[in-house]
Amino acid sequence: MPLIVQKFGGTSVADTQKILGAARKAIRAAQAGNQVVVVVSAMGKTTDHLISLARELTERPVGREMDMLLASGEQVTIALMAIAMQSLGAKAVSMTGAQIGIKTDNSHTKARIKSISTDRMKKALDDGNIVIAAGFQGIDDDGDITTLGRGGSDTSAVALAAALGADECEIYTDVDGVYTTDPRLLPEARKVTQISYDEMLELSSLGAGVMHSRSIEFAKKYGVAVHVRSSFSDTVGSLIIETPESDTAVSGAAIAKNEARLTMVGIPDKPGNAMLLFSKIAEAKIPTDMIVQNIGQDGRTDISFTVPAADLVATLELLLLIVPEIGAETVEWQENVAKVSVVGLEMEKQGGVAKKMFRAISQKGINIDIITTSEIKISALVLRDEGPATLRAVHQAFGLEKEPKKIKPRPKKALSKSAPRLEQTLAESGTMDVLQLSGRLSGMEDILIEAIHLNQTEAVITMPNIPDVPGMAAEMFEKIAAGNIVVDMIVQSCGRNGKAIITFTVPRQSFDKAFDIAQKLAKKWKSDEPVCNPAIAILSVRGTGLRSHTELAYRMFNILANNEINVNVISTSERNIAVTVDESNGERGLKLLREEFANEMI
Ligand code: ADP
Ligand code: ASP
Ligand code: MG
Repeated sequence: MPLIVQKFGGTSVADTQKILGAARKAIRAAQAGNQVVVVVSAMGKTTDHLISLARELTERPVGREMDMLLASGEQVTIALMAIAMQSLGAKAVSMTGAQIGIKTDNSHTKARIKSISTDRMKKALDDGNIVIAAGFQGIDDDGDITTLGRGGSDTSAVALAAALGADECEIYTDVDGVYTTDPRLLPEARKVTQISYDEMLELSSLGAGVMHSRSIEFAKKYGVAVHVRSSFSDTVGSLIIETPESDTAVSGAAIAKNEARLTMVGIPDKPGNAMLLFSKIAEAKIPTDMIVQNIGQDGRTDISFTVPAADLVATLELLLLIVPEIGAETVEWQENVAKVSVVGLEMEKQGGVAKKMFRAISQKGINIDIITTSEIKISALVLRDEGPATLRAVHQAFGLEKEPKKIKPRPKKALSKSAPRLEQTLAESGTMDVLQLSGRLSGMEDILIEAIHLNQTEAVITMPNIPDVPGMAAEMFEKIAAGNIVVDMIVQSCGRNGKAIITFTVPRQSFDKAFDIAQKLAKKWKSDEPVCNPAIAILSVRGTGLRSHTELAYRMFNILANNEINVNVISTSERNIAVTVDESNGERGLKLLREEFANEMI
């Protein structure tokens, strides 16, 4: 019998009438001949309310007790949902995370799923029940309740779909699908028929709150087709599957409205310092992004990065502790910033995206503070107030509101069973520790690495001390594109003297031309002479969910630093982390990374 997982988010179960509506959808699916597992969130804004209650008592509630508190929200909904279904004459049973057997690690409020036992759910389903599972929660090895992080019910739903080998995972929410950007911010956003796992993972990790990004890691790893659709209608929604909708360079835009930037100023420029900084942050499981290092001045560098504004205080505390340890000068931060990103699988092949994005932003008179890129995304950090205008400008510049030429027809039936490699494991045990890779991984959410590469075809150019006014990056990359030069990595950071620094990599065969353009621009802008390294090596690690597993970047910096290899430019996406090193260190760096990640390689 086909099995479907249906997840209903907070607004979809905000009151008893809505719970009844959701119950009817599930009953209909069961009557149509499916086994049905329903995953629910807490009602409406319950989780926010519970958090504010704790905050009335203290700024820093203990994680274990927070989880005890927050998990109560979902427990209310499962019970009401079961009562609603029973009142409609259906057979239903509710289960908490612990009752299902969702085992997690013990990092309270940010726990990761280790395993899911399917026995009890399967038995209940086989007995003719609709199983109602509490989203967002699990239990650790000590039997304590844990939660998966805000928005984590999506992850529970997709993980259950993976564990049960479900035919489809439906995410019922208050929008009728995935849009090119948040339709509440830009009404001109377009609903997509389908979007690839890699694009959705990147968009959600960059701020598209429609899906919890970790849920897409599960979907991709285990081949679960996710159907995002409206709770309040029967309209067909958007599919998140392997194949993108079209081959346009940019397929979506996202905004993370509440970001904070931190800069560790004047760090003695030696391998190991960046490592120490990121090891502390990784331990605290704080997600970092937009990591930029300024070239050394007087043997010292500055490292800037962004964190969610909610993590600013905790991050600051960590940094202030290590300032004396690494001999840095000080820590600076900026709280009122927002990150606007564009995402597209084809970006790296098509080129020209950077100049278009930067021009669109500068035409609105908006200044970009930091720029970082990866092979599938470009992010720009701007003042928070200017975030929505920046988002609109880039959405328009890439014509995202227009229907693209579709490359593949949408599959008639949404569904891919869990990836075949999982089926044997599923058949053999009632517990889903799948993708164990002969026992080498310990949990379902562990990092999986597909490849580690060394690229020795690039050169790097840095433009120091350029005026920090709108339009510089746009002009730079328009000139570069006009010279038919393909740029790979770009970072822009804020220099110490209120000036900006732009660093970018180009293929070695285009180096002379690119350097010439850089020199001419430096003259025009009256900025310093560009600096370069005509032969660098790029080391990259490819996999799934790499940025959100903060410890991966840390391990990468750590192993290189311990072997005296200095990292310069850093580029991160959920599927790739790349660093530039001097060419002389390329081969050795590759070997070190392969050894370091041998256990996680597929
Ligand atoms: P739920 O409570 O059902 O989990 P969420 O509030 O977490 O719902 O997610 C749905 C919201 O995500 C929408 O109301 C919308 O404002 C927001 N959103 C952000 N980015 C997008 C996007 N690209 N497409 C659709 N919705 C988006
Ligand atoms: N109730 C939790 C939250 O509000 C989990 C979720 O809704 O996904 O974050
Ligand atoms: Mg949500």
